Amino acid sequence: MTNDDWPALLTAQRAQLIADLASAAEASAPVELDQSRVGRLSRMDAMQSQAMSQAADSRRHREIRQIDAALARVEAGTFGDCAKCDEPIAVSRLRFAPANPLCLDCAEELER
Ligand SMILES: [Zn+2]
Repeated sequence: MTNDDWPALLTAQRAQLIADLASAAEASAPVELDQSRVGRLSRMDAMQSQAMSQAADSRRHREIRQIDAALARVEAGTFGDCAKCDEPIAVSRLRFAPANPLCLDCAEELER
């Protein structure tokens, strides 16, 4: 085990993601497509940026789910073990992304 405080790190990341979601929701709140005011091009711009912020939101939701799963592994005492092969995940990898459930080998295998 390491001295890194993974639960604190994970909880802080989770709080940041939730804050990001809240401010994103505020910023993009009503994408009202006022036909009289905006032309066709800016309407497409609005739709495009809406699609982009939806993509960012679903990425954040996915990360929050990953963090919740990682926190559950902390509780269960299995944090830091690969969810697939049970080998320990490299600490450098966890520092980069603490919620990451897979070791490098398994992650690369998934991408192949
Ligand atoms: Zn693995």
